[in-house]
Amino acid sequence: MRVTLVRGARQLLTLHGPSGLRRGADLRNLGLIQDGAVLIVDGLIKEVGSSRRVENLALARQADEIDATGRVVMPGFVDSHTHFAGEATGGSARALETQTLRAIEDAVRHGTTTLEVKAGDIKFLKALDKQPISLVSTFLCTPAVPEYRERPDQYLEWVCSNLLPLVKRRKLAEFADILCEEGTFGHDRARHYLTAARELGFGLKLHTGRRSKAGVIRLAVELGASSVDHAVDVSPEDATLLAQSATVATLLPADTFYREEEPYAHARMLIDNGVAVALATNYDPEQCPSQNMQLTLTLACRRMNMTPAEAITAATLNGAYALRLASTIGSLESGKSGNLIVLSVPDYREIPYHFGINLVDLVMKNGSVLVERPEVKWPVS
Ligand SMILES: [Zn+2]
Repeated sequence: MRVTLVRGARQLLTLHGPSGLRRGADLRNLGLIQDGAVLIVDGLIKEVGSSRRVENLALARQADEIDATGRVVMPGFVDSHTHFAGEATGGSARALETQTLRAIEDAVRHGTTTLEVKAGDIKFLKALDKQPISLVSTFLCTPAVPEYRERPDQYLEWVCSNLLPLVKRRKLAEFADILCEEGTFGHDRARHYLTAARELGFGLKLHTGRRSKAGVIRLAVELGASSVDHAVDVSPEDATLLAQSATVATLLPADTFYREEEPYAHARMLIDNGVAVALATNYDPEQCPSQNMQLTLTLACRRMNMTPAEAITAATLNGAYALRLASTIGSLESGKSGNLIVLSVPDYREIPYHFGINLVDLVMKNGSVLVERPEVKWPVS
């Protein structure tokens, strides 16, 4: 039996609270315990509570201890939207694997313990299959393929009747996604693709954008999509539809920041209307080269007027909902996976306050320490 005790957290953010997707005022409920502890047995959380209570449990006496005194402990970030392959499909399989592994390592170093990865080709999905941390893969249908440009309808038909079933058979992806803004796939093609994917048992995601056509969000809600992503320009009518659905609106402020070409998503309007929002990086080696969820939190607070508590919930539990994994990850509750991070700040509101630096001291995934920040060794003069 492998037992680990994380104790002494000045603020333990459990995110324990009402069940279901977090929206409205519930986004601000972090289930905060002062001087908190977490006991993890064989990778799963066994107990969460005050240090005094948890460290006196019989099981805690045989535990390996991690001292989090004075610091914040919270669930590992769930980065529910990335593009690891970029647009590039060239290069050898070996080079692709090495490049991908490095990018994943950087995400982990910044506190991400669950990562969604989108790719539009089988070669890349196969490379992902060999990575050491569990990833959630999404097959993304993109119009950038030359075959699509030449014969769009035939190409899409081939994707639906050949490629998607192959991806499913080989278990290369859990989700299917499609680009659905101006200049990409229209409403009818998106419906055709997503319906075929749903029949095969894929979870659905939809890439919207600033120029998404009317009806695209309605389509996603109708088909029961887990998320509509980017969501930078949502009409009040679509916000009402989303608020009444289980579809998460995933906001990607780092994408807006890096491209400097469009306004940020109206996070306040969405939250105040009851839409369940998630935050993710949109990491892409060419278009949005940052895996830092802490920076995403800063942008969410500074540029989209989210509160630190809302941003943290959106970057953990609601991200887990967007990946249909909320029963096992996204909060620190008994029975869930032991995925947590220790941050070198005494108060969670300092996480978005500092920007561009890495506050993560320790990353734990399924009860195992993946990252532990080495101490600075000052030279003796
Ligand atoms: Zn994207």
